[in-house]
Amino acid sequence: MKRKVIIIGSGPAGFTAAIYSARANLEPLVFEGAQPGGQLTITTDVENYPGFPDGIMGPDMMDEFRKQAQRFGAECLFKTVDKVDLSERPFKVWADGNEYFAEAIIISTGATAKLLGLDSETELMGNGVSACATCDGFFYRDKKVLVVGGGDSAMEEATFLTKFASEVVLIHRREEFRASKIMVDRALANPKISVEYNSAVDDIIGTKETGVTSVRLKDTQTGETRNVDCDGIFMAIGHVPNTQLFSGLITLDDAGYIITKPDSTYTNIDGVFACGDVQDHTYRQAVTAAGSGCMSAIDAERWLENQHE
Ligand code: NAP
Repeated sequence: MKRKVIIIGSGPAGFTAAIYSARANLEPLVFEGAQPGGQLTITTDVENYPGFPDGIMGPDMMDEFRKQAQRFGAECLFKTVDKVDLSERPFKVWADGNEYFAEAIIISTGATAKLLGLDSETELMGNGVSACATCDGFFYRDKKVLVVGGGDSAMEEATFLTKFASEVVLIHRREEFRASKIMVDRALANPKISVEYNSAVDDIIGTKETGVTSVRLKDTQTGETRNVDCDGIFMAIGHVPNTQLFSGLITLDDAGYIITKPDSTYTNIDGVFACGDVQDHTYRQAVTAAGSGCMSAIDAERWLENQHE
C-alpha cells in the first residue's frame, strides 16, 4: 500500500514529525529502527526538555512521544529499514523483506555517539557513563569527572563540565590534540581542567548502584596501567550520523550528515526531508530535534499539497 509519508527513525525528531503529519491526516508510517526511541533511550533523567519541571527518564519520554503520535493515527513499526530507492516516485522502502511505497519520506535516523566499545561502558551507560555533557553535566555538581577525547567536542564538553564538576580530567590517547588551538587554549587555561596524555581507557569500574567509582587507564606508550578515582566519565570521541542507508542517494556533507536547504528540512531530493541529528551536528538536543521534526512534517505536508494542485 502506498503511504503519503514514511518516517524513518524514531527519536524526538521522528516522533514529532509523526505527531504533526498524523494530525495533518497524512497517516504516517514510522519505522522505529534498531534503537526504538533513539539516543534518549540510553540516557536516564532528561531535565532540560521544557514542560517537565521534575525531569523525565529518557525511555519514558520516548514512550510518551510514541503514544502521542499513535493517538493521532501514526503507525509505528519496530522494524529497521534496510534499503530505499529514492530515484523515482513513489519512493520505495524495504524493511524485514517487505516493500513499502511513499509519496514523501522524512529521514530522522539520528546520529550515534562513538563509544570505546568496552563492556563496562555499555553496562554503566546512564549510571556514570555518558556521551552528552549538556544532558548529564548537571548531575556532577562538585564531583570529579573524566572526559575522553582530544577533539573540539572534548574541549567543549570539558569546559562545559567545569560549571558543575570540581575537577575535570581530559583523557587523550596521544600527545597532541586534534582540537582547534583556541578551544585547547580555553580548556587548558581553566584551573579545574587537567590532562592525562597518552592514556587510553582500559576499563570503567563501578556498578549500576554505585555509579562509576574509578577508571583504569593504560599508558599508550608503555602499556602501564593505573587507576584514577572519579564519579563519572564522558565520551567525547565524535558522532557518526546514521546515513549509511542513504550514501550515494542523498547529498551528504564531508562528515556524512544530510545537507538540508537553509531554514528548511528539504534535502536535494524533491519529496525527501531530513530532521534531527542526522542533519544537525551542532545542537544535537532533544528539543531542537523535535523542532526540526515539526518543520519536516510541515514541509512534507505543504510539498504534498503542491503535488496535487
Ligand atoms: P573529532 O574531531 O573526530 O575528534 C575525536 C577525538 O576523539 C580525537 O581526538 C580522537 O583521537 C579521539 N578518539 C576517537 N576515537 C577514539 C577512541 N576509540 N579512543 C580514544 N580516543 C578516540 O570529533 P569531535 O571532537 O566530536 O568533532 C567533530 C567535528 O565537530 C569537528 O569538525 C569539530 O571541529 C566540530 N566541533 C566544533 C565545535 C566548535 O567549534 N564549537 C565543537 C564540537 C565539535 P585522535 O586525535 O588520536 O584521533
